[in-house]
Amino acid sequence: MWARIVSWFQPRYWVWAALACALVLPWLRPGLTRLDLLVYDMLVPANATEAESVVVAVDDASIASLGRWPWPRALHARMIDVLREAGAKVVAYDVLFSEASSVDDDRLLAEAVKRAHKLVVPVAAVTDMQHGAYLIENMPAFRNGSVPGHVDTLLDVDGRWRRMFMTISGPDMVIQAMPWVALSLAGGAPHGHWGRGEQAAGDGRGWVRSAEVLLPAMADPVPMVPFVDALRHPEQFAGKVVFVGVTAHGLGPEYALSMGSRVTLASSPVVMAHAYEVLRESAQLIPAPAWLSKSLAMVVALPLLIWPLRPTTRWAKLLPMACVLLPLLLCWAALSLLRIWFEPVAATFVLTLGWLVWGSTLLMRATLEGNRVRRQAQATLFAVGEGVVVLGEDGLIRSANPVAVQMSRKVDMLGENIEQVLQLDDEGRFTLSRAMVQCRHTGRAVSMEQPVRLQVGAVCRDILVTVAPLPEEEAGHHGVVLALRDVTATVVAGQQLRHAATHDALTGLPNRSLLRDRMDQAIARAARAQQSVAILFMDLDRFKRINDSLGHAAGDEVIREVGRRLLQACRKQDTVARWGGDEFVIVLEDIAGRDAVITVVNKIVEAVAQEMTLSGMVFPCACSVGLAIAPEDGTDVDALLAMADAAMYRAKGNPTQRWAFFSSSLNLWTRDRLALEGEARRALVEGGFELFYQPQVDRVDGRLVGFEALLRWRRDDGEVMLPSEFIGMAEESSLILALGEWTLREAARQIVAWSSAGGPDVPISVNVSAKQCLDLQLVQLLSTILAETGISPDKLKLELTETAAMSDAAVVEELLDGIRQLGVGIALDDFGTGYSSLVYLRRFPIQQIKIDRSFVQDLTTQPEAAAIVKAIIGLAHGLGVPVVAEGVETSMQRDILLEHGCDILQGYLYARPLPAQDAARWGDMEKLHG
Ligand code: C2E
Ligand code: CA
Ligand code: CA
Repeated sequence: MWARIVSWFQPRYWVWAALACALVLPWLRPGLTRLDLLVYDMLVPANATEAESVVVAVDDASIASLGRWPWPRALHARMIDVLREAGAKVVAYDVLFSEASSVDDDRLLAEAVKRAHKLVVPVAAVTDMQHGAYLIENMPAFRNGSVPGHVDTLLDVDGRWRRMFMTISGPDMVIQAMPWVALSLAGGAPHGHWGRGEQAAGDGRGWVRSAEVLLPAMADPVPMVPFVDALRHPEQFAGKVVFVGVTAHGLGPEYALSMGSRVTLASSPVVMAHAYEVLRESAQLIPAPAWLSKSLAMVVALPLLIWPLRPTTRWAKLLPMACVLLPLLLCWAALSLLRIWFEPVAATFVLTLGWLVWGSTLLMRATLEGNRVRRQAQATLFAVGEGVVVLGEDGLIRSANPVAVQMSRKVDMLGENIEQVLQLDDEGRFTLSRAMVQCRHTGRAVSMEQPVRLQVGAVCRDILVTVAPLPEEEAGHHGVVLALRDVTATVVAGQQLRHAATHDALTGLPNRSLLRDRMDQAIARAARAQQSVAILFMDLDRFKRINDSLGHAAGDEVIREVGRRLLQACRKQDTVARWGGDEFVIVLEDIAGRDAVITVVNKIVEAVAQEMTLSGMVFPCACSVGLAIAPEDGTDVDALLAMADAAMYRAKGNPTQRWAFFSSSLNLWTRDRLALEGEARRALVEGGFELFYQPQVDRVDGRLVGFEALLRWRRDDGEVMLPSEFIGMAEESSLILALGEWTLREAARQIVAWSSAGGPDVPISVNVSAKQCLDLQLVQLLSTILAETGISPDKLKLELTETAAMSDAAVVEELLDGIRQLGVGIALDDFGTGYSSLVYLRRFPIQQIKIDRSFVQDLTTQPEAAAIVKAIIGLAHGLGVPVVAEGVETSMQRDILLEHGCDILQGYLYARPLPAQDAARWGDMEKLHG
């Protein structure tokens, strides 16, 4: 509460207002009074009643005809008599006879006065230098039979007559104003109230004016009759109140009198008649005492004093201004309701002054506050770590803080285009301008999600930009504020984090997870470009010994050095990753051929094999490398890594060669191919090749229904080579034709042998390569073999792969027709891995479809494989062809295959490929079991 009161007084603007008033008010007093009078004239309406009184004027015309003034008093006596005789109600004779003249004249006048019926005679209040203040009245002789009424008048500062004091009191008498006395005599008791305004002249021995009233203007002047005419026609005065007095120019006082809207000069009798009329209508106004209007000024100013200096609403701002009109309003109300006049201007003046001081204090405070806020904003702007740039709606820079200046390439950015001072790349410029357009369009702040690259001097920074609209008077025309946050540190930290997550801490090389990603990508790229990717698994030899003898620090140094050497040995597009421990994996993409891979591998091995110097000791270094090739060896990352790992172990076991391919065919390929081919040709002649037989069994009873003949090469050193290791080589040379012929003859020979020895009586399937298929002599060869051996053609079956069959379908169709005409069966091998044309599938005379091993293997683990198997079986059965599943290894695989309706089964679950003798024995055992 107290705090509130104190806070009211705290803004001391009202003190200033009061002081100012006190200083200037006395000074301005006359001026203010004039203004008050002006307001009075405007507000007080003129009195419009018809006059009851008449003025008998001693005017210029009367003087001209009756002689010079002063007239003999007999003339006045005559007028008094004439008026009495004419029956005038009251005669107010406004001519002073204060000194004696000729005795006759005075006697005549005294007698006339005595005779007079209701006669008012004047008393005047006078102040002069010689005598001070005193009252003059008629000589006692003329007073007999008359009533005194004072004709004292007072002029306002503007020289106009507006007021009269109803009473004037001398040392031993109280005299009422002549109009009032006349009215009393006429029988109209004046009502309404009198003012109390008092004014004393002299030092108490003079006279005192009191009961002040204001007399509003008259709409029409009181009728006036010249003295001469009045003497001639007195009858017009019957029942009238007659004021007689001097109106001639220069003879009596003249007053400026408001007459309607005009001002006329009027002399004393006219003024008295005027006052009489006003009083008769009770239209007089009471002037409020001066102290009242002064204190009113204070009272109305009071609300202003306590008015808050922080107006929040519109009303609070407008009300003080409205207060200024309050005194005028009060003045008007008092006038029309109470008939009291008080002077409004002083109060208005005080209020206006107060309002001005209030307003200017307000303005000053607002300005100070504004300045403070601006300084604060400026300080904030300079303190923040972000660059802040303000753009006008024209896109030019209005202001920029120091951080922003540091970011720009110009020291003076003002008035420049933002794109010219910020050195952004094309993309950054585009994103920035798009954000600004979006911000201007929506009127909302736009924050970029990605930092833009900003060139600051020689370095490149990452800047995150927020564009916010600037509130502007005109809607839709926005300037914008750009907040530029330097997030380079964050971006770098993020990059480091990402790098740490994907790279090996010791060598800085990609770690396992990044390696997997890179491998995935490389394999996908290779698949598209129909190229190969080499995966090298490298392991340091005897690393454990270095670690154990020299310590881990030395071991780490070795690993780092090896990483460096590997990077140097490889091309830029290759990936060198650390797998863990002393193992590295290298991914070589886009390899031109096997030879190129071997070149790189040799280079790597050589690079690592350089001697290493560690803490003054020089020791040899060596590594082993295993290679897997995608997609030749597979496309699965983990499988490829496992293959390369396995190959690496093989290389470790080989003292002569530091590296090994996973698939041995590739290994072989690198040996002297011609030598191998020659060796194979020799083996073909010398009986180095052999056929193994893998049984095929029926779905229903597990009975042996056939054999697949699979080629084996028994080398001189006793090692048995699998077809995967030499069929490729054979196919690349013409050896495959000879080998194929041998295989067919051998199979036929075996059939003959078994039939004569009571061996298994089932067909044998022989694999034919694509090259054999396109060689049309196959039919010729078959028929020759059939003829030579005399075997039944249905004991022989040819397996050709789906891919081979579809490679040149038209040629193959002809070939198959030829074979079929011989009565030899045909099986479509590795079904599902190639792309079969359903048209040809229907046209080919096929007796069997063999589901590829890979599907059977995945049967229990991958639902897709199961679906494919089911579809293949469905398709084959739709074509009326039985299905063989090869590579059946588990009973679970068997059960699923049987469930789907597979007809014939082949795989390790039943038997591995067996030499002929074992195959026959297996057949016998089956028979026995059966
Ligand atoms: P293929 O025609 O798909 O032969 C089946 C292969 O699957 C054989 O490998 C066989 O040993 C193997 N196998 C059979 N059951 C299972 C099993 O349960 N699990 C697993 N993992 N494998 C099983 P092989 O003998 O190494 O022959 C490889 C390929 O060489 C053959 O694939 C065939 O395309 C080709 N080939 C074999 N002999 C000849 C031949 O005389 N002439 C021609 N041109 N190619 C031949
Ligand atoms: Ca086969
Ligand atoms: Ca096969």
